[in-house]
Amino acid sequence: MSDDADVIVVGAGLAGLRAAHVLNDAGRRVVLVDSSPRVGGRLASREVDGHVLDRGFQLINPAYPELAASGVMDDFDLRRFSSVVRFTDGDTSFELGDPRRDPRRAWTALRHPDLGVTDALKLGFALGVLRFSSAAAIVKGPDLATRDALRRLRVSERAIDGVVAPFLRGTLLDDDLATSWHYSALVLKSFTRGRPGTHPRGVAALADAFASRLTSTTLRLGETVRRVSAHSVHTEGARYDARAVIVATDATSAHSLLAIPDPGWRAQTTWWLSLPRVPDATQLRIDTRRRFLSSALDLASAAPERAPLGRSLIGASANGEFTADHDAAVRDDVARLYGVPVREVDLIARDVVAKALPVLGLPLDLHRSSERDGVIVAGDFLQTPSIQGALVSGRRAARRALVRSVAGGQ
Ligand SMILES: Cc1cc2nc3c(=O)[nH]c(=O)nc-3n(C[C@H](O)[C@H](O)[C@H](O)COP(=O)(O)OP(=O)(O)OC[C@H]3O[C@@H](n4cnc5c(N)ncnc54)[C@H](O)[C@@H]3O)c2cc1C
Repeated sequence: MSDDADVIVVGAGLAGLRAAHVLNDAGRRVVLVDSSPRVGGRLASREVDGHVLDRGFQLINPAYPELAASGVMDDFDLRRFSSVVRFTDGDTSFELGDPRRDPRRAWTALRHPDLGVTDALKLGFALGVLRFSSAAAIVKGPDLATRDALRRLRVSERAIDGVVAPFLRGTLLDDDLATSWHYSALVLKSFTRGRPGTHPRGVAALADAFASRLTSTTLRLGETVRRVSAHSVHTEGARYDARAVIVATDATSAHSLLAIPDPGWRAQTTWWLSLPRVPDATQLRIDTRRRFLSSALDLASAAPERAPLGRSLIGASANGEFTADHDAAVRDDVARLYGVPVREVDLIARDVVAKALPVLGLPLDLHRSSERDGVIVAGDFLQTPSIQGALVSGRRAARRALVRSVAGGQ
């Protein structure tokens, strides 16, 4: 029987798309199969009443090395937000940002109620070191939970609870800072190097940008893969043969196809709210009253196309799964954070994403085995729970498949 392709990739999330992208650039024929009717996996966006909503609160950081190396950002319409973060209770605000971009930030940092001079200097120094350290240097040595690593750096509990944890919890989906310090340090490094942004068509546009570059890939969407082996893939009604097979699904699906351990998931709930356009709202807002919201951001401040004319689109998120019982409290909090009467805040949607990020093990291991029974494996759960992690895993899987397809199988 002749092969249907050189390589079959199962899963058209970012890991699978990146794998197909690298294989196409090397001249290989690829069949890319996904159970969903669209590409992108967890990167998903939709339109609701003139608003473009992502499936959960997601930002794209152009400083992710793998994203930059992919070339996809060259003509990507990324709309960046401010690099300054506003800690606010609605009445009083403190803005923290990079003093190299704006020297006034050093002064405001010192006025933050949870940051004394010593903490401000320690954290500023640590961020400066991370900015110029290589990823390899950052992950060298023993890893610790982020809170423990900060204690070891002698950052005070007050600064950890008042500044670092509120800043990181929305990215790590971890309220306790139990996540690997090596990973947190990589995340902080990426924030010192780039300003995250969004796209007028939502975060799904990033997956579309990868898909549009696939020249010699046949997309099979809406086909669920039931069984895989080193050289074949079985869906409900079809079988595909190739020299190599890559499984680039999420962790739970990889577990059912290949019995790979499932690390479990961290959940996120995002409320999407519409309110009259707020001027100068490109800063991430963190609620210093410390209720359950991690942060809020006006997506329309950078991409006005994402909301009807004259409206702001606020994405407000919290870690965990929340029901409608919390909707009223979220409207109150967002009204306070943006200084508008609560009657002017309309709830558009609430996204509860139970499987948002795979739980990251401690210590961080960026070299986990990416092969099972002759099948090559990719996915963010093998690297880091991020766009960067998914892309790196996809590229690495493609390199393995390239070797195998040159060798003629096996
Ligand atoms: C709410 C939320 C917020 C996030 N925020 C950020 C952020 O701000 N910054 C950041 O960097 N990252 C963020 N992430 C993480 C990032 O989106 C993911 O790490 C990345 O998209 C994972 O890509 P992946 O290809 O590994 O997996 P997935 O996107 O899960 O792709 C797996 C694909 O496999 C398919 N599949 C599964 N089983 C089968 C089967 N049996 N047959 C066929 N197809 C199958 C699925 O349909 C899916 O398309 C966020 C994620 C979520 C959900």
